[in-house]
Amino acid sequence: MKFNLQKKVDLSRFHTFGTRQIAKYLIQVNDLEDLDSALDFALKAEVPFLILGEGSNTLFKSDFSGLVIVVKFQGIVHDSSRGVLQVSSGENWHRLVKYTLSQSLYGLENLALIPGSVGAAPVQNIGAYGVEFKDFFCSLSAYDLEKRQLIEFDQSECQFGYRDSFFKREGLGKFLITKICLKLYEEPRPVLDYPDLNDADPGDGSNNISLEIYKKVCEVRRKKLPDPGTLGNAGSYFKNPIISLTDFSAIKKKHPELPGFKTENPEKMKISAAWLTDFVGAKRKRNAGAAVYKDHSLVLVNEDNANGLDIYLLGQEIKSEVYNEFGVRLSEEVQII
Ligand SMILES: Cc1cc2nc3c(=O)[nH]c(=O)nc-3n(C[C@H](O)[C@H](O)[C@H](O)COP(=O)(O)OP(=O)(O)OC[C@H]3O[C@@H](n4cnc5c(N)ncnc54)[C@H](O)[C@@H]3O)c2cc1C
Repeated sequence: MKFNLQKKVDLSRFHTFGTRQIAKYLIQVNDLEDLDSALDFALKAEVPFLILGEGSNTLFKSDFSGLVIVVKFQGIVHDSSRGVLQVSSGENWHRLVKYTLSQSLYGLENLALIPGSVGAAPVQNIGAYGVEFKDFFCSLSAYDLEKRQLIEFDQSECQFGYRDSFFKREGLGKFLITKICLKLYEEPRPVLDYPDLNDADPGDGSNNISLEIYKKVCEVRRKKLPDPGTLGNAGSYFKNPIISLTDFSAIKKKHPELPGFKTENPEKMKISAAWLTDFVGAKRKRNAGAAVYKDHSLVLVNEDNANGLDIYLLGQEIKSEVYNEFGVRLSEEVQII
């Protein structure tokens, strides 16, 4: 095999919680040939495998007695005749955002500084500041890990939803996304709905607006969220729950200050998970070395040598307190292994 199979690997530098779980085997794959060899190895060794990008949305609850396949496919091609960008899945998302702005391609600036790989972006349809990955999506190529063949997925086949897609549900563990195709704007179309971005407009009507948004988003994110390089975390641990209008009205009666947001479905409301977790005092909770970030009750952190189970159990405690108080079941945004 031309790639390097590693054994008994400390996963702490492969995921942003930085806990010291051990993988029995780990392989970094650069292309389909590497991937086929990795899959052959897992079959022969009779071990399970899992696909990992940069590990910024993954919690290892325990050691993994199988093969971790780390995606490293590289390459960005700007096909200006079709007005699309083809990006390999192992590229870093934030570097892609910077690259697009340098090419005068607009739209991704609100998604700046989201950690992780390009290939994981469709998995949970990453989103921030009023923009989602799906807004720029044309198609993607994914390798069917059982049939060993490349398949093209269009927008409807990906079934994008709020922090959700086919690849986070039925397709989980069955496909490795190799490449995505995006269509971006050639002129800025600023999305400034979020209060944090209100003062991003340079006011001169120039193309600098996208750059201003980019800078503002980076500035706000650096202030609000802990840097995983210094404090292990995976961003928001829970998703905002989507509940029926009836349940929303019932909770509102008892808690009139609960924020609610309309969804595409007029029968459903999205409510703020941060508000719910704040209400149950999440910021004061901890479990061994696991804690909740002081400035953001949705961000669980590895404060002091926590292991994956410490973090998981802290999440479970918060979930059950929210359920007891509001009757709402939080679901994890993070993939738990
Ligand atoms: C500080 C911080 C802030 C964050 N802010 C946001 C935010 O604002 N919005 C947001 O949406 N997310 C946010 N996240 C979550 C995370 O950055 C995204 O979910 C990101 O897309 C994960 O990328 P990754 O490569 O690290 O994924 P990983 O954690 O490596 O993988 C996540 C899932 O995707 C699968 N996967 C990864 N690569 C592939 C592939 N090529 N093919 C198939 N499956 C694959 C994995 O198997 C796993 O199930 C934040 C995380 C952190 C640490």
